[in-house]
Amino acid sequence: MALVTTTEMFKKAYAGKYAIGAFNINNMEIVQAITEAAGEQRSPVILQVSAGARKYAKHVYLMALAKAAIEDSGVDLALHLDHGADFEICKSCIDGGFSSVMIDGSHHSFEDNIALTKKVVEYAHAHGCVVEGELGRLAGIEDDVKVSAADSSYTQPDEVEEFVSRTGVDSLAIAIGTSHGAYKFTADQCTRNADGVLVPPPLRFDILEEIEKRLPGFPIVLHGASSVPQEYVKEINTLGGKLPDAVGIPEEQLRKAASMAVCKINIDSDIRLAMTAGIRRVFNEEPQVFDPREYLKVARAEVKKMVAHKIVDVLGSNGALDK
Ligand SMILES: [Zn+2]
Repeated sequence: MALVTTTEMFKKAYAGKYAIGAFNINNMEIVQAITEAAGEQRSPVILQVSAGARKYAKHVYLMALAKAAIEDSGVDLALHLDHGADFEICKSCIDGGFSSVMIDGSHHSFEDNIALTKKVVEYAHAHGCVVEGELGRLAGIEDDVKVSAADSSYTQPDEVEEFVSRTGVDSLAIAIGTSHGAYKFTADQCTRNADGVLVPPPLRFDILEEIEKRLPGFPIVLHGASSVPQEYVKEINTLGGKLPDAVGIPEEQLRKAASMAVCKINIDSDIRLAMTAGIRRVFNEEPQVFDPREYLKVARAEVKKMVAHKIVDVLGSNGALDK
């Protein structure tokens, strides 16, 4: 078995009205948690690596972990570069064996975004790799990607056909109101529910529908799509953490997007929250523990449980490997 591209995954996901989870990885426990959950749920999965994760863990380790995960779990697995900032990092990941890269030219002008994306697509396609582009800008912070609310903008449906046809890109990340990080919205952008938890503004499904009409059958990607489960936020805060007003995208809205043209949903913050909650729980309940395996085991199990829940209840990709 080897790494696969996302082409077949997306084709089936589009037709089957589900989405593939793209989970960010940066260590062994996270890779194991994601791929074990995917294997048990018979779901294809995308492991994605940010520039920051590549710096932290090194390309060679992440590559070896992904290969080990394929052997161990038996799932179709794509290895994807998240938010490639320039041609050089994309080339380096393609040369280094990734099956998919994202070139994020969303901060450039429309014409410069097209030129940069096209250059990456030409190189990637010549090397058996697929490319995700981005139009529109998400607000929020994720590793090296920082965009203020004032600099963010929704994707313009008028631009998508020209962008896709001129670049030859394989999938497109769009901005319809999702946001990076665990603090997706400020209190003044939200209302509060009866429990005092922030409720964010709804996603712009009208934009997604318009894009779907203009690009029928074309796979769309949602970034910044963690739901920031409040049980983790509450547990972390109760056990000495400080994550005030962390808020995400309601899962029923993500499920709806997955049933539409969205074929890839990115999840990073929820992994961080699950791990942190697990580790804090062990440190709180068993302060004598100092063996990293003892707390990482619990953190890994928590991530696995969360990923299985996403696959079944949000993405709808469970059982897809058998269809
Ligand atoms: Zn992103």
